[in-house]
Amino acid sequence: MKYLVTGAAGFIGFHVIQRLLDAGHQVVGLDNLNDYYDVNLKTSRLALIADRSGFTFVKDDLANREGMAELFRSHRFQRVIHLGGQAGVRYSLENPLSYADANLVGHLNILEGCRHNQVEHLLYASSSSVYGLNRKMPFSTDDAVDHPVSLYAATKKANELMAHSYSHLYGIPTTGLRFFTVYGPWGRPDMALFKFTRAMMAGEKIDVYNHGQMRRDFTYIDDIVESIIRLQDVIPQPDADWTVEKGSPAASSAPYRVYNIGNSHPVTLMAYIEALEGALGMKADKNMLPMQSGDVAETSADTRALFEVIGFRPQTSVEEGVARFVDWYRAFYQK
Ligand code: NAD
Repeated sequence: MKYLVTGAAGFIGFHVIQRLLDAGHQVVGLDNLNDYYDVNLKTSRLALIADRSGFTFVKDDLANREGMAELFRSHRFQRVIHLGGQAGVRYSLENPLSYADANLVGHLNILEGCRHNQVEHLLYASSSSVYGLNRKMPFSTDDAVDHPVSLYAATKKANELMAHSYSHLYGIPTTGLRFFTVYGPWGRPDMALFKFTRAMMAGEKIDVYNHGQMRRDFTYIDDIVESIIRLQDVIPQPDADWTVEKGSPAASSAPYRVYNIGNSHPVTLMAYIEALEGALGMKADKNMLPMQSGDVAETSADTRALFEVIGFRPQTSVEEGVARFVDWYRAFYQK
């Protein structure tokens, strides 16, 4: 099977590519290697896969319309796993336009590539942040209305709507995954676990928002990757009544789906910090701060729909996952 994986040098993309290569697939990895966070971390991830048989790296920007069209034309991908894009809630407050390019234009270029090149399936990253404020717990994809409270979240919701229209109009099978705070080895330096670890090991204070009372459904990277890989075996198909002329006669018959993928076991930020203190064997010096704009107080995933399809749900505890992150962090930064 020939895959395009975008965000190849990113946290989740890099892990997914390793699993695809292990299974003997051919993978073209795309990334623009931007400097949103430490480029050395991105190139170090890439260095681990660069020479593996079946892997090709392409440095380009998702927003480059001609470049993306040519990439699809020349490679004839069967499957696409689209994990590239501008992540981060807080960064979107200061840098809104980079989200329009990477997440809106970029996503459209991927959809167009799928449309014109008979791609069998597009799986793309959405986010728990699309749910926004005042939601029933746990969050369910059956809820009709979302209330994104950051531009980042709004672009992720837009990605789902764009995918729905392409599934409906052109019969492209699409699967959106709403990730819930992913963490683990090779994780992102802009996320709490990485920042806390770096600060604690340097003997510095850590900034704890909402006085540590935010609850998050922290999800371990291997559980995310396992779900993505299993979803490759259960691709949605258009209903028999789908036609090129009319598209899907009903929204429910388009080969479109969106799932939550979270741990279904939210913990407070304070409990997450305690797990880190345990793994590092030291106490954190905490700087207690109020909630930041664009953040939500709690996330919690209802994963029943995903479980019905793939027979798997995330299962790694925060203690276990944080300990594995710390082992990686020490090995990587203290070599
Ligand atoms: P990441 O930032 O580590 O990876 C994204 C990669 O995309 C980066 O390597 C970056 O260089 C690349 N990229 C960004 N803009 C690009 C562009 N215009 N053209 C080409 N490449 C570009 O992030 P991640 O944690 O691996 O997240 C992957 C996806 O999952 C993102 O869409 C993110 O929004 C989403 N997501 C992640 C989390 C999480 O907790 N990690 C939660 C919810 C959603």
